[in-house]
Amino acid sequence: MEHNKEESSLLTPEEVETREEIITGNLEDLKKLTRRRPVPVEVEKPKVEEVTNKIYNRGGQVCINLETQGRFALPQKLYFSDYTIEDVNNLSLSRKEDLLENLVVILNRLKNSDADCDLQDATLEEFQEILVGLKKQFSDEAYMHQWVCEVCQTDDDDQKINETYFDLNEIEYTSIEQAEIKLREFYRDLFNSIDDESFRDYLNKKYRDEPKSPDWTVDNEVESIKIKQYFYVPIKEDIYAFGFMTVGNLIRAAKIARKEFASRKHKAQNLRIHGMSLVELKQKQKDEIAAIADDEAKATILYSKALSLTMVNGKKLSDRERIDKYKDLPRKLLLGIEELIMKVEFGITGEKEFTCPMCGQVNKRSLQQELHPLLFLPFELSSSTGSGKSAGLDIYFGI
Ligand SMILES: [Zn+2]
Repeated sequence: MEHNKEESSLLTPEEVETREEIITGNLEDLKKLTRRRPVPVEVEKPKVEEVTNKIYNRGGQVCINLETQGRFALPQKLYFSDYTIEDVNNLSLSRKEDLLENLVVILNRLKNSDADCDLQDATLEEFQEILVGLKKQFSDEAYMHQWVCEVCQTDDDDQKINETYFDLNEIEYTSIEQAEIKLREFYRDLFNSIDDESFRDYLNKKYRDEPKSPDWTVDNEVESIKIKQYFYVPIKEDIYAFGFMTVGNLIRAAKIARKEFASRKHKAQNLRIHGMSLVELKQKQKDEIAAIADDEAKATILYSKALSLTMVNGKKLSDRERIDKYKDLPRKLLLGIEELIMKVEFGITGEKEFTCPMCGQVNKRSLQQELHPLLFLPFELSSSTGSGKSAGLDIYFGI
């Protein structure tokens, strides 16, 4: 991401100003969840639909109440059947780079057929909730988390992995409404910290098509802030619409990066250097392949962020356009957007403390970041049917 000189003239160098630019930038539909500090909250956890009376249409399915409450591309509730043996087989035979995509295909089939949505449009938070819900219902409520101690395992090449069980029922969830409350608090503080002129300037930019009357107060404005599918940032004469990171963005970003690095990888794999010993050659090859993998990973991250830029002036962009336009945006502006998005947290939230059995130090981890979707694949078949129920309760004789 090179700093774009032409664009940078729009922004003052101070951090504060950058932030203000974004804020006044009419994050009208700012959909970031605020979650500066995870607050333990009473939330609806994914619940298993009561089976009584619903055996015939919902029997054996798990109902996931998504914390996004239907505001984005997925409905508030989704029902899923358990993975079939074939699904598990397909997943375990998948190449690593195809896993996520194959998982999306499978989940699209397992979801209730009347749900009009595509799981590649799920945000990462929604996807995480779904996978944890499936695991809880169909596999096991006890989850073994593998983690590396940050205190004593600093050697990248020789890290010992710790395994800690925890109960998936302990996970805390934060709804989009709660996130919105925090976001409003953030904006209230922000508005109160700027002078009236700056506030009016923010309003004029945000409501440029339908200006607010002069008696529109901070309270009015704070109440109007809602987290929806897109949030908007005016840049020069254009309005850029960004969405939250989705599973589909990740999959597409990885594909684009893979394609881009394919020939370099191929070259490295077929490296021949005249006069070099085989041992030296192997080492050189290994180093080169590791460097390429590193670059590819960085490109994937950049592209997945870029793909969250969805529209300019209401017009949907192709993936290539998203990446090109995103790369041209001023770096400070992008950092400001990221910073604001980080404040907004929904779905699985909270931290968990893991004590290292080797050094005894406590490691604090954010569960949202720690519980990667691919850790919840249905690979280990637990000996029980999960949820403490006996198998017989899901099987009906004599109907
Ligand atoms: Zn340790």
